Amino acid sequence: MVLKSFVEVQPDSHFPIQNLPYGVFRPAPGSEPRPGVAIGEYVLDLSVVASAGLFDGPVLKNSDCFNQVNLNKFVGLGRPAWKEARVTLQKLLSATEPTLRDNPSLRQKALVPVVQVQMLLPVVIGDYTDFFASMHHAKNCGLIFRGPENPINPNWFHIPIAYHGRASSIVISGTDIIRPRGQGHPPGNSPPYFGPSRKLDFEMEMAAVVGPGNELGKPVDVNEAADHIFGLVLMNDWSARDIQAWEYVPLGPFLGKSFGTTISPWIVTLDALEPFASDAPKKNPPPLPYLAEKISKNYDISLQVSIKPAGEEDRCIVTRSNFKHLYWTITQQLAHHTINGCNLRPGDLLGTGTISGPEPESYGCLLELTWNGQKPLSLGGSTRKFLEDGDEVIFTGCCKGDGYLVGFGTCSGKILPSPS
Ligand code: CA
Repeated sequence: MVLKSFVEVQPDSHFPIQNLPYGVFRPAPGSEPRPGVAIGEYVLDLSVVASAGLFDGPVLKNSDCFNQVNLNKFVGLGRPAWKEARVTLQKLLSATEPTLRDNPSLRQKALVPVVQVQMLLPVVIGDYTDFFASMHHAKNCGLIFRGPENPINPNWFHIPIAYHGRASSIVISGTDIIRPRGQGHPPGNSPPYFGPSRKLDFEMEMAAVVGPGNELGKPVDVNEAADHIFGLVLMNDWSARDIQAWEYVPLGPFLGKSFGTTISPWIVTLDALEPFASDAPKKNPPPLPYLAEKISKNYDISLQVSIKPAGEEDRCIVTRSNFKHLYWTITQQLAHHTINGCNLRPGDLLGTGTISGPEPESYGCLLELTWNGQKPLSLGGSTRKFLEDGDEVIFTGCCKGDGYLVGFGTCSGKILPSPS
């Protein structure tokens, strides 16, 4: 028997009672931000639920974690708090539970129609790291930039490769992205140019939101890493390929990446994703012991990217991929990140890197889909090598359960022209 809520939830909704993802919202313009969970077309205001004394378990009873303007305190409390909240909220919202269902004034206060709210970044992100965990993406980038001899660097099969990203320019879905300006370098001996990026791209990624951190100098064991991950969001790691290609030697990505990164507003918890766990790809060669996990798993999350070209009404689907394609798991990424003693903090964000599948229809960015502009994509009436001003890029992701979906909603952004 599938668990049902008294709140009406359409069969194609990403937010049934099985999901209950966390976000931060303003119920009305000018009101104080507060944490909520999505249920169907509503947001359940957790500050109202907490004030009504409905979190009565041992961890959350006297906590003020839901009377905050972000989720950092709650995610930092760790798994006992997350479990307790999930049990409480699933019970409170279930069709058979009268507490909220039969209390019209409380219901009115606690359930806010999602069309009325403004979603904000769910956590204060202190640090953001971007991995490179899809083998198909790593291989395609190597083929494009370095050629067919050893497209994947030998270190890639031993190290979950990453770089430190820029946290200050992470924005919530729906925020416009201004085309960055910077240096590019045409092939051959010409001098570099400066101007609006000519190769603006999206990167379809997901990102893990760190829960409890670790002390400086104390690495997290790979088999305990899942206790440090609260959940996942969709992430578009916008990339200016011309700027990136010219600047990345020898220290890696910088201004080609740091102008903007978009995340979806709802953090889907690992608890909600657990029914969709799938075996991670077998590692060959076997990883070093600190990365060898007893259970190595991904999640079966279908991902899709659409582009709504400038001036057009319709969206075109440009790729379909799946989170299960990742070679390095998010727990291996987290363990690797801390193995030198680096400390993570609640709310830190770990991007997976572009999630490309094995087939050309499942590549996760335009660099791969158009093979660096050599094979333009057809989008209804127009074609694209890279993004043009006015283009809107929309990501969605969801898991298909038996009679319900567990989804992430959307992660979207529109390109605005560079300032002149
Ligand atoms: Ca990336």
